[in-house]
Amino acid sequence: MSGDDLLGQAHVRLDEAAQQLNVDHDVIEKLKYARETTQVRLMIRMDDGSRKSFLAWRCRYDDTRGPTKGGIRFHPDASVGEVEALAFWMTCKCAVMNLPYGGGKGAVQVDPRKLSKAELERLSRAYIQAFSRIIGPDRDIPAPDVYTNSMIMGWMADEYAQIVGQAVPAVITGKPIALGGSLGRGDATARGGYYLVRHLAENLGLGKSMRVAIQGFGNAGQHVARLLVADGHRIVAVSDSDGAVQSDVGLHVDMLIAAKEAGQPVASTIGQGGHQSLSAHELVGVDCDLLVPAALENMIDETNAGTVRAKLVLELANGPITPEGDTILARNGTVVLPDILANAGGVTVSYFEWVQNRQGFYWTLEEIHDRLRAIMEREGGAIWSISREKNITVRTAAYVHALSRLAEAIEAHGTQSFFMS
Ligand code: GLU
Repeated sequence: MSGDDLLGQAHVRLDEAAQQLNVDHDVIEKLKYARETTQVRLMIRMDDGSRKSFLAWRCRYDDTRGPTKGGIRFHPDASVGEVEALAFWMTCKCAVMNLPYGGGKGAVQVDPRKLSKAELERLSRAYIQAFSRIIGPDRDIPAPDVYTNSMIMGWMADEYAQIVGQAVPAVITGKPIALGGSLGRGDATARGGYYLVRHLAENLGLGKSMRVAIQGFGNAGQHVARLLVADGHRIVAVSDSDGAVQSDVGLHVDMLIAAKEAGQPVASTIGQGGHQSLSAHELVGVDCDLLVPAALENMIDETNAGTVRAKLVLELANGPITPEGDTILARNGTVVLPDILANAGGVTVSYFEWVQNRQGFYWTLEEIHDRLRAIMEREGGAIWSISREKNITVRTAAYVHALSRLAEAIEAHGTQSFFMS
Protein backbone atom coordinates (compact mmCIF):
# COMPACT_ATOMS: atom_id res chain seq x y z
CA MET A 1 0.00 0.00 0.00
CA SER A 2 1.47 3.34 -0.99
CA GLY A 3 1.59 6.31 1.34
CA ASP A 4 -0.77 8.26 -0.97
CA ASP A 5 -3.51 5.72 -0.33
CA LEU A 6 -2.88 6.14 3.38
CA LEU A 7 -3.69 9.86 3.32
CA GLY A 8 -6.75 9.11 1.18
CA GLN A 9 -7.89 6.60 3.80
CA ALA A 10 -7.34 9.12 6.56
CA HIS A 11 -9.60 11.55 4.69
CA VAL A 12 -12.40 8.96 4.53
CA ARG A 13 -12.63 9.34 8.30
CA LEU A 14 -12.67 13.14 8.04
CA ASP A 15 -15.53 13.02 5.53
CA GLU A 16 -17.52 10.68 7.78
CA ALA A 17 -17.15 13.12 10.66
CA ALA A 18 -18.02 16.13 8.47
CA GLN A 19 -21.34 14.48 7.63
CA GLN A 20 -22.21 14.56 11.34
CA LEU A 21 -21.32 18.23 11.76
CA ASN A 22 -22.44 21.32 9.95
CA VAL A 23 -18.90 22.48 9.13
CA ASP A 24 -17.99 24.99 6.46
CA HIS A 25 -16.57 23.52 3.25
CA ASP A 26 -13.45 25.73 3.71
CA VAL A 27 -12.58 23.82 6.87
CA ILE A 28 -12.55 20.45 5.13
CA GLU A 29 -10.66 21.90 2.16
CA LYS A 30 -7.99 23.24 4.51
CA LEU A 31 -7.59 19.92 6.34
CA LYS A 32 -7.26 17.90 3.11
CA TYR A 33 -3.72 19.08 2.34
CA ALA A 34 -0.46 19.42 4.25
CA ARG A 35 0.58 23.04 4.73
CA GLU A 36 4.26 22.28 3.99
CA THR A 37 6.30 19.13 3.48
CA THR A 38 10.04 19.36 3.00
CA GLN A 39 12.12 16.57 1.55
CA VAL A 40 15.91 16.42 1.84
CA ARG A 41 18.64 13.91 1.20
CA LEU A 42 20.81 13.44 4.27
CA MET A 43 24.42 12.53 3.56
CA ILE A 44 26.47 10.93 6.31
CA ARG A 45 29.90 9.33 6.66
CA MET A 46 29.72 5.62 7.46
CA ASP A 47 32.19 3.96 9.86
CA ASP A 48 34.10 2.40 6.93
CA GLY A 49 34.77 5.87 5.49
CA SER A 50 32.21 5.65 2.67
CA ARG A 51 29.36 8.13 2.27
CA LYS A 52 25.72 7.18 2.20
CA SER A 53 22.56 9.20 1.57
CA PHE A 54 19.07 8.80 3.06
CA LEU A 55 15.77 10.42 2.10
CA ALA A 56 14.18 12.40 4.92
CA TRP A 57 11.05 14.50 5.42
CA ARG A 58 9.41 16.88 7.84
CA CYS A 59 5.75 17.72 7.35
CA ARG A 60 3.94 20.58 9.11
CA TYR A 61 0.42 19.52 8.27
CA ASP A 62 -1.69 22.13 10.04
CA ASP A 63 -0.81 24.83 12.58
CA THR A 64 -4.21 26.43 13.14
CA ARG A 65 -4.34 25.37 16.80
CA GLY A 66 -0.66 25.95 17.62
CA PRO A 67 2.87 24.88 16.71
CA THR A 68 3.00 21.61 14.78
CA LYS A 69 3.79 18.54 16.91
CA GLY A 70 4.73 15.00 16.03
CA GLY A 71 7.39 12.33 16.06
CA ILE A 72 10.23 11.35 13.73
CA ARG A 73 10.13 7.80 12.38
CA PHE A 74 13.18 5.86 11.18
CA HIS A 75 11.93 3.10 8.90
CA PRO A 76 13.04 1.53 5.58
CA ASP A 77 9.49 1.84 4.14
CA ALA A 78 8.97 5.48 5.13
CA SER A 79 7.51 7.61 2.32
CA VAL A 80 6.24 11.14 1.85
CA GLY A 81 2.62 9.93 1.70
CA GLU A 82 3.01 8.06 4.97
CA VAL A 83 4.59 11.09 6.67
CA GLU A 84 1.69 13.31 5.54
CA ALA A 85 -0.94 10.81 6.70
CA LEU A 86 0.77 10.50 10.09
CA ALA A 87 0.98 14.31 10.33
CA PHE A 88 -2.74 14.57 9.53
CA TRP A 89 -3.46 12.09 12.34
CA MET A 90 -1.31 14.19 14.71
CA THR A 91 -3.42 17.25 13.79
CA CYS A 92 -6.57 15.37 14.78
CA LYS A 93 -4.95 13.75 17.84
CA CYS A 94 -3.83 17.07 19.34
CA ALA A 95 -7.33 18.48 18.74
CA VAL A 96 -8.92 15.40 20.36
CA MET A 97 -6.85 15.97 23.50
CA ASN A 98 -7.29 19.77 23.36
CA LEU A 99 -3.51 20.29 23.35
CA PRO A 100 -2.45 23.73 22.01
CA TYR A 101 -0.78 22.19 18.97
CA GLY A 102 -1.25 21.49 15.30
CA GLY A 103 0.07 18.33 13.68
CA GLY A 104 3.39 17.39 12.10
CA LYS A 105 5.56 14.37 11.46
CA GLY A 106 9.01 13.47 10.20
CA ALA A 107 10.78 10.41 8.88
CA VAL A 108 14.04 9.06 7.54
CA GLN A 109 13.99 6.19 5.06
CA VAL A 110 16.48 3.93 6.84
CA ASP A 111 16.69 0.61 8.66
CA PRO A 112 18.32 1.84 11.88
CA ARG A 113 19.15 -1.74 12.91
CA LYS A 114 21.70 -1.80 10.10
CA LEU A 115 23.60 1.26 11.41
CA SER A 116 26.24 1.39 14.14
CA LYS A 117 25.53 3.64 17.11
CA ALA A 118 27.96 6.27 15.79
CA GLU A 119 26.31 6.19 12.33
CA LEU A 120 22.88 6.53 13.95
CA GLU A 121 24.09 9.57 15.89
CA ARG A 122 25.50 11.19 12.73
CA LEU A 123 22.20 10.55 10.91
CA SER A 124 20.16 12.03 13.79
CA ARG A 125 22.36 15.13 13.88
CA ALA A 126 22.18 15.46 10.07
CA TYR A 127 18.37 15.46 10.33
CA ILE A 128 18.46 18.46 12.68
CA GLN A 129 21.06 20.26 10.54
CA ALA A 130 18.70 19.90 7.58
CA PHE A 131 15.53 20.94 9.41
CA SER A 132 16.81 23.40 12.05
CA ARG A 133 15.03 26.31 10.33
CA ILE A 134 11.73 24.44 10.20
CA ILE A 135 11.56 23.23 13.80
CA GLY A 136 11.43 25.40 16.94
CA PRO A 137 9.65 25.47 20.32
CA ASP A 138 6.91 27.77 18.93
CA ARG A 139 6.95 26.39 15.41
CA ASP A 140 7.37 22.64 15.14
CA ILE A 141 8.29 20.23 17.94
CA PRO A 142 9.54 16.71 17.09
CA ALA A 143 9.44 13.64 19.37
CA PRO A 144 10.11 9.88 19.12
CA ASP A 145 8.12 7.51 16.90
CA VAL A 146 8.74 4.04 15.42
CA TYR A 147 12.44 3.04 15.83
CA THR A 148 13.47 6.34 17.45
CA ASN A 149 13.90 6.83 21.21
CA SER A 150 15.05 9.17 23.97
CA MET A 151 18.73 8.65 23.13
CA ILE A 152 18.11 9.89 19.57
CA MET A 153 16.04 12.84 20.89
CA GLY A 154 18.97 13.72 23.19
CA TRP A 155 21.40 13.86 20.23
CA MET A 156 18.91 15.93 18.27
CA ALA A 157 18.33 18.42 21.11
CA ASP A 158 22.10 18.73 21.52
CA GLU A 159 22.58 19.39 17.79
CA TYR A 160 19.86 22.07 17.83
CA ALA A 161 21.51 23.74 20.85
CA GLN A 162 24.84 23.83 18.99
CA ILE A 163 23.24 25.36 15.89
CA VAL A 164 21.35 28.14 17.71
CA GLY A 165 24.06 28.68 20.35
CA GLN A 166 21.96 27.94 23.44
CA ALA A 167 20.02 25.11 25.04
CA VAL A 168 16.39 25.10 23.86
CA PRO A 169 14.96 22.00 25.55
CA ALA A 170 11.35 22.73 24.47
CA VAL A 171 12.26 22.19 20.79
CA ILE A 172 12.07 18.40 21.14
CA THR A 173 10.16 16.12 23.53
CA GLY A 174 10.85 12.57 24.61
CA LYS A 175 14.38 13.58 25.66
CA PRO A 176 16.45 11.79 28.31
CA ILE A 177 15.58 13.01 31.83
CA ALA A 178 19.12 14.44 32.14
CA LEU A 179 18.41 16.85 29.26
CA GLY A 180 15.00 18.04 30.47
CA GLY A 181 12.89 15.01 29.58
CA SER A 182 9.73 14.41 31.58
CA LEU A 183 9.16 11.64 34.05
CA GLY A 184 6.55 9.26 32.70
CA ARG A 185 7.17 9.94 28.98
CA GLY A 186 8.61 6.42 28.43
CA ASP A 187 5.39 4.50 29.01
CA ALA A 188 2.97 7.37 28.27
CA THR A 189 1.48 5.97 25.04
CA ALA A 190 0.64 2.63 26.65
CA ARG A 191 -0.43 4.19 29.94
CA GLY A 192 -2.86 6.57 28.24
CA GLY A 193 -4.49 3.62 26.43
CA TYR A 194 -4.58 1.65 29.66
CA TYR A 195 -6.29 4.53 31.56
CA LEU A 196 -8.81 4.81 28.71
CA VAL A 197 -9.71 1.11 28.82
CA ARG A 198 -10.03 1.24 32.60
CA HIS A 199 -12.26 4.30 32.45
CA LEU A 200 -14.59 2.81 29.82
CA ALA A 201 -14.50 -0.74 31.26
CA GLU A 202 -18.00 -0.56 32.70
CA ASN A 203 -19.54 0.92 29.53
CA LEU A 204 -17.75 -1.71 27.47
CA GLY A 205 -18.80 -4.55 29.80
CA LEU A 206 -15.19 -5.68 30.30
CA GLY A 207 -14.30 -8.46 32.70
CA LYS A 208 -11.74 -8.23 35.53
CA SER A 209 -9.43 -10.71 33.83
CA MET A 210 -9.16 -10.25 30.07
CA ARG A 211 -7.19 -12.31 27.58
CA VAL A 212 -5.09 -9.90 25.53
CA ALA A 213 -3.26 -10.25 22.19
CA ILE A 214 -0.64 -7.64 21.29
CA GLN A 215 0.64 -7.04 17.76
CA GLY A 216 4.04 -5.35 17.88
CA PHE A 217 6.35 -5.44 20.88
CA GLY A 218 8.21 -2.14 20.83
CA ASN A 219 7.75 0.67 23.35
CA ALA A 220 3.92 0.72 23.34
CA GLY A 221 3.47 -3.07 23.18
CA GLN A 222 5.90 -3.83 26.02
CA HIS A 223 4.52 -1.20 28.37
CA VAL A 224 0.87 -2.04 27.77
CA ALA A 225 1.65 -5.72 28.45
CA ARG A 226 3.29 -4.81 31.75
CA LEU A 227 0.44 -2.51 32.86
CA LEU A 228 -2.30 -4.98 31.95
CA VAL A 229 -0.61 -7.93 33.68
CA ALA A 230 -0.16 -5.83 36.85
CA ASP A 231 -3.93 -5.26 36.70
CA GLY A 232 -4.74 -9.00 36.62
CA HIS A 233 -5.12 -9.51 32.85
CA ARG A 234 -3.40 -12.24 30.81
CA ILE A 235 -1.31 -11.73 27.66
CA VAL A 236 -2.13 -14.76 25.49
CA ALA A 237 -0.28 -13.80 22.28
CA VAL A 238 2.41 -11.34 21.19
CA SER A 239 4.04 -10.71 17.80
CA ASP A 240 6.91 -8.61 16.48
CA SER A 241 8.33 -8.13 12.99
CA ASP A 242 10.10 -11.53 13.18
CA GLY A 243 7.34 -13.81 14.49
CA ALA A 244 4.92 -14.50 17.33
CA VAL A 245 4.33 -16.50 20.54
CA GLN A 246 1.24 -17.65 22.39
CA SER A 247 0.18 -19.23 25.67
CA ASP A 248 -3.38 -19.81 26.87
CA VAL A 249 -2.35 -19.55 30.50
CA GLY A 250 -0.50 -16.29 29.90
CA LEU A 251 2.91 -15.34 28.50
CA HIS A 252 5.77 -14.33 30.81
CA VAL A 253 6.00 -10.63 29.99
CA ASP A 254 9.31 -10.14 31.82
CA MET A 255 10.86 -12.93 29.73
CA LEU A 256 9.60 -11.31 26.51
CA ILE A 257 10.90 -7.87 27.49
CA ALA A 258 14.28 -9.36 28.48
CA ALA A 259 14.50 -11.05 25.06
CA LYS A 260 13.77 -7.76 23.26
CA GLU A 261 16.31 -5.90 25.40
CA ALA A 262 18.90 -8.50 24.41
CA GLY A 263 18.09 -7.85 20.74
CA GLN A 264 16.18 -11.14 20.34
CA PRO A 265 12.75 -11.57 18.75
CA VAL A 266 9.76 -12.65 20.89
CA ALA A 267 9.85 -16.04 19.12
CA SER A 268 13.24 -16.73 20.77
CA THR A 269 11.27 -17.53 23.96
CA ILE A 270 9.37 -20.45 22.33
CA GLY A 271 9.77 -23.59 24.43
CA GLN A 272 10.45 -21.68 27.65
CA GLY A 273 7.79 -21.14 30.35
CA GLY A 274 5.06 -22.74 28.22
CA HIS A 275 5.52 -20.27 25.32
CA GLN A 276 4.27 -21.84 22.07
CA SER A 277 4.81 -20.89 18.47
CA LEU A 278 2.30 -18.90 16.44
CA SER A 279 2.65 -17.41 12.98
CA ALA A 280 2.62 -13.61 13.06
CA HIS A 281 -0.26 -13.31 10.58
CA GLU A 282 -2.48 -15.45 12.84
CA LEU A 283 -2.18 -13.04 15.74
CA VAL A 284 -5.19 -10.84 14.88
CA GLY A 285 -7.44 -13.92 14.82
CA VAL A 286 -6.31 -15.31 18.19
CA ASP A 287 -9.09 -16.08 20.69
CA CYS A 288 -8.96 -13.12 23.09
CA ASP A 289 -11.05 -10.33 24.65
CA LEU A 290 -8.80 -7.40 23.80
CA LEU A 291 -6.65 -6.98 20.68
CA VAL A 292 -3.94 -4.31 20.79
CA PRO A 293 -2.37 -3.37 17.44
CA ALA A 294 0.90 -1.67 18.46
CA ALA A 295 2.93 -1.93 15.24
CA LEU A 296 2.39 -0.18 11.89
CA GLU A 297 -0.43 0.95 9.57
CA ASN A 298 -2.86 -1.26 7.65
CA MET A 299 -2.40 -4.44 9.68
CA ILE A 300 -6.16 -5.16 9.81
CA ASP A 301 -7.93 -4.87 6.47
CA GLU A 302 -10.67 -6.59 4.46
CA THR A 303 -8.59 -9.79 4.24
CA ASN A 304 -8.31 -10.47 7.98
CA ALA A 305 -10.80 -8.24 9.85
CA GLY A 306 -13.35 -11.07 9.66
CA THR A 307 -11.02 -13.32 11.69
CA VAL A 308 -10.88 -10.93 14.68
CA ARG A 309 -12.52 -12.56 17.70
CA ALA A 310 -11.82 -9.81 20.27
CA LYS A 311 -14.78 -7.65 21.25
CA LEU A 312 -12.50 -4.66 21.85
CA VAL A 313 -9.55 -3.26 19.88
CA LEU A 314 -7.20 -0.66 21.41
CA GLU A 315 -5.21 1.06 18.63
CA LEU A 316 -1.84 1.94 20.14
CA ALA A 317 -0.36 2.06 16.61
CA ASN A 318 -1.27 4.85 14.20
CA GLY A 319 -3.64 3.77 11.43
CA PRO A 320 -3.55 -0.03 12.02
CA ILE A 321 -7.08 -0.61 10.60
CA THR A 322 -8.18 0.31 7.05
CA PRO A 323 -11.67 1.80 6.46
CA GLU A 324 -12.72 -1.57 4.95
CA GLY A 325 -11.42 -3.35 8.06
CA ASP A 326 -13.39 -0.90 10.22
CA THR A 327 -16.64 -1.68 8.40
CA ILE A 328 -16.21 -5.42 8.96
CA LEU A 329 -15.34 -4.99 12.66
CA ALA A 330 -18.33 -2.70 13.23
CA ARG A 331 -20.62 -5.19 11.50
CA ASN A 332 -19.33 -7.94 13.82
CA GLY A 333 -19.92 -5.80 16.92
CA THR A 334 -16.25 -5.20 17.76
CA VAL A 335 -15.64 -1.81 19.40
CA VAL A 336 -12.49 0.01 18.25
CA LEU A 337 -10.88 2.63 20.51
CA PRO A 338 -9.22 4.65 17.72
CA ASP A 339 -5.58 5.75 17.45
CA ILE A 340 -6.20 9.50 17.68
CA LEU A 341 -7.63 8.89 21.17
CA ALA A 342 -6.15 5.54 22.27
CA ASN A 343 -2.46 6.37 21.67
CA ALA A 344 -2.67 10.08 22.51
CA GLY A 345 -1.03 9.55 25.92
CA GLY A 346 2.38 9.88 24.23
CA VAL A 347 1.84 13.34 22.80
CA THR A 348 0.01 14.42 25.95
CA VAL A 349 3.05 13.72 28.13
CA SER A 350 5.17 15.34 25.39
CA TYR A 351 3.03 18.43 25.98
CA PHE A 352 3.71 18.15 29.73
CA GLU A 353 7.45 17.95 28.93
CA TRP A 354 7.24 21.11 26.76
CA VAL A 355 5.34 22.95 29.52
CA GLN A 356 7.91 21.90 32.15
CA ASN A 357 10.81 22.95 29.87
CA ARG A 358 9.27 26.38 29.35
CA GLN A 359 8.49 27.02 33.00
CA GLY A 360 11.75 25.43 34.21
CA PHE A 361 9.88 23.68 37.00
CA TYR A 362 9.48 19.91 36.96
CA TRP A 363 6.60 17.72 38.11
CA THR A 364 6.64 14.45 40.06
CA LEU A 365 5.74 11.16 38.41
CA GLU A 366 2.52 11.13 40.39
CA GLU A 367 1.56 14.56 39.03
CA ILE A 368 2.24 13.38 35.46
CA HIS A 369 0.12 10.25 35.94
CA ASP A 370 -2.74 12.17 37.57
CA ARG A 371 -2.80 14.80 34.82
CA LEU A 372 -2.60 12.18 32.05
CA ARG A 373 -5.38 10.13 33.59
CA ALA A 374 -7.61 13.21 33.98
CA ILE A 375 -7.22 14.19 30.31
CA MET A 376 -7.71 10.64 28.98
CA GLU A 377 -10.86 10.29 31.07
CA ARG A 378 -12.20 13.73 30.13
CA GLU A 379 -11.71 13.38 26.36
CA GLY A 380 -12.41 9.62 26.28
CA GLY A 381 -15.65 10.14 28.20
CA ALA A 382 -16.74 12.99 25.90
CA ILE A 383 -16.04 10.91 22.78
CA TRP A 384 -17.85 7.89 24.20
CA SER A 385 -20.92 10.09 24.84
CA ILE A 386 -20.83 11.47 21.27
CA SER A 387 -20.68 7.94 19.89
CA ARG A 388 -23.71 6.84 21.95
CA GLU A 389 -25.76 10.00 21.27
CA LYS A 390 -25.19 9.96 17.52
CA ASN A 391 -25.07 6.18 17.23
CA ILE A 392 -21.73 6.27 15.41
CA THR A 393 -18.46 4.38 15.92
CA VAL A 394 -16.01 5.62 18.54
CA ARG A 395 -13.63 6.46 15.67
CA THR A 396 -16.14 8.70 13.91
CA ALA A 397 -17.01 10.27 17.27
CA ALA A 398 -13.31 11.04 17.88
CA TYR A 399 -13.11 12.75 14.47
CA VAL A 400 -16.30 14.70 15.20
CA HIS A 401 -14.73 15.84 18.48
CA ALA A 402 -11.47 16.87 16.74
CA LEU A 403 -13.17 18.48 13.77
CA SER A 404 -15.41 20.69 15.88
CA ARG A 405 -12.34 22.07 17.70
CA LEU A 406 -10.39 22.50 14.46
CA ALA A 407 -13.34 24.21 12.75
CA GLU A 408 -13.73 26.61 15.66
CA ALA A 409 -10.05 27.57 15.48
CA ILE A 410 -10.03 27.91 11.68
CA GLU A 411 -13.10 30.17 11.82
CA ALA A 412 -11.68 32.21 14.71
CA HIS A 413 -8.60 33.10 12.64
CA GLY A 414 -10.88 34.92 10.16
CA THR A 415 -11.42 34.29 6.47
CA GLN A 416 -8.56 36.60 5.35
CA SER A 417 -6.05 34.91 7.64
CA PHE A 418 -2.72 33.55 6.49
CA PHE A 419 -3.88 30.32 8.13
CA MET A 420 -6.65 30.09 5.55
CA SER A 421 -4.39 30.95 2.58
N1 GLU B 1 4.98 9.60 17.87
C1 GLU B 1 3.96 9.73 18.87
C2 GLU B 1 2.59 9.75 18.21
O1 GLU B 1 2.41 9.27 17.11
C3 GLU B 1 4.21 10.88 19.83
C4 GLU B 1 4.29 12.24 19.21
C5 GLU B 1 4.76 13.33 20.16
O2 GLU B 1 4.99 13.06 21.31
O3 GLU B 1 4.86 14.47 19.69
O4 GLU B 1 1.63 10.19 18.79
